[in-house]
Amino acid sequence: MPERRSAGPFPEADALVLGGGPAGSTAAAVLAQRGRRVVVIERERFPRYSVGESLLPYCYFPLERLGMIEKLRASSFVKKYSVQFVATDGRVSTPFYFFQHLEHEAAQTWQVLRSEFDQMLLDNAVDRGAKVVIGATAKRLLMRDGVCEGLLVALDGDLHEVRAPVTVDCGGRHGFAATQLRWIVPDPRLNKVAIWTYYRGAKRDKGRDEGATTVAYLPGKGWFWYIPLPGDTVSVGVVAERKYLYRDGKDIEAVFAREVTANPWIEEHLRPGRRCEPVRVTAEYSYRSKYCAADGLVLAGDAFTFLDPVFSSGVLLALLGGERAALAVDAALAAGDVRADRFSGYGMEMCAGIEAMRKLVYAFYEEAFSFGSLLKKHPHLRGDLTDCLIGNLSKDFGQLFEAVGEFARVPEALPYGSAVAQADETLAAA
Ligand SMILES: Cc1cc2nc3c(=O)[nH]c(=O)nc-3n(C[C@H](O)[C@H](O)[C@H](O)COP(=O)(O)OP(=O)(O)OC[C@H]3O[C@@H](n4cnc5c(N)ncnc54)[C@H](O)[C@@H]3O)c2cc1C
Repeated sequence: MPERRSAGPFPEADALVLGGGPAGSTAAAVLAQRGRRVVVIERERFPRYSVGESLLPYCYFPLERLGMIEKLRASSFVKKYSVQFVATDGRVSTPFYFFQHLEHEAAQTWQVLRSEFDQMLLDNAVDRGAKVVIGATAKRLLMRDGVCEGLLVALDGDLHEVRAPVTVDCGGRHGFAATQLRWIVPDPRLNKVAIWTYYRGAKRDKGRDEGATTVAYLPGKGWFWYIPLPGDTVSVGVVAERKYLYRDGKDIEAVFAREVTANPWIEEHLRPGRRCEPVRVTAEYSYRSKYCAADGLVLAGDAFTFLDPVFSSGVLLALLGGERAALAVDAALAAGDVRADRFSGYGMEMCAGIEAMRKLVYAFYEEAFSFGSLLKKHPHLRGDLTDCLIGNLSKDFGQLFEAVGEFARVPEALPYGSAVAQADETLAAA
């Protein structure tokens, strides 16, 4: 590639946002709304495909602050009122109806087509004044003496040094900044593989249950998601340990077909349908970045942390992360000080919520744990459990996880995720 290093077609910016997914669009909208000049660097042409279609009820609140609720109401996205769990023998649990617990219109959320949803969020950022450069690929952070000065960006065959006081990495699960700075810390117990596809004409439940997310168990604590989408399409995928899924070989179509027959509910629901998309696969390394920020740099959404998707927490954490990171950036710009420790509070706030979800995910994968047995022994904790499942992550879940600890090992909070300390050796190397 010929090299030309200039700011090129990139407008002057107070903040660069890497990535136009839910975290990046939210960060850009919040900053632009506050009068900041913000430029989003996005390599894909939108609308673009993404997995991750099921929203949690508490997405309502950041979406409301973004002015998105009316647009979602007017969309064709499927209304989601509940989540239900299906045992390995096909028996269905009593659904968790969100409205039984939450007397607020947030109790109805959506199963979205991410291509449309992400486009709506990005358009909203543009409406608020953000500039988006599409087809631009960030190649690396521009680091000088441990300070991030911007991004080296490839666009139309040229390389550009694009500088701004702050860069917000919202580049998703590949951990753009965290990889360059060697900050990725995998969560070894949550190292799974996901194999998924889409069906048309598969069975859907009726009425209020039509949009339910179903989590169907497999032997050995693997699970299926079954998510009804607009247009008679269903998103269906299996998540399990690599050695379980690949025990007869790595042909993902064959693995998917075999696992469908392992849960009678999934088999019966897919039987009238036909597959309408290729089978896709991803290794799902849950991880957290060692730090959430350096001088002039903040990480948000999957770029900061990725958690196993069993409870559909990714988009919520991306919306909240994008919003809170942007508020911290705005305050830092106002103070004329974008050093790392300005973002410590943001990191700690995000980690507290992520830890609640992470504990529940750990419990889910433990042989001895089930929601049924937990609630049988501690029926008064149904409210706390539902709060965690709907994404009310700022609540104190001490009592809930004490009770969960009677059935499953509850992990300690990870001791990192704050802003980088001044003398970090990885930054010096970068
Ligand atoms: C199998 C699976 C199932 C999931 N199911 C759910 C679910 O049901 N519900 C849920 O809430 N979450 C789910 N998730 C998680 C969810 O998809 C993510 O948490 C969410 O998309 C994170 O948003 P983000 O904005 O951080 O990143 P992304 O949505 O990944 O957006 C990142 C953007 O950055 C751009 N980008 C990346 N690198 C560069 C670069 N170098 N230069 C320029 N642009 C770049 C990408 O093109 C992309 O548009 C699932 C995830 C997986 C893997």
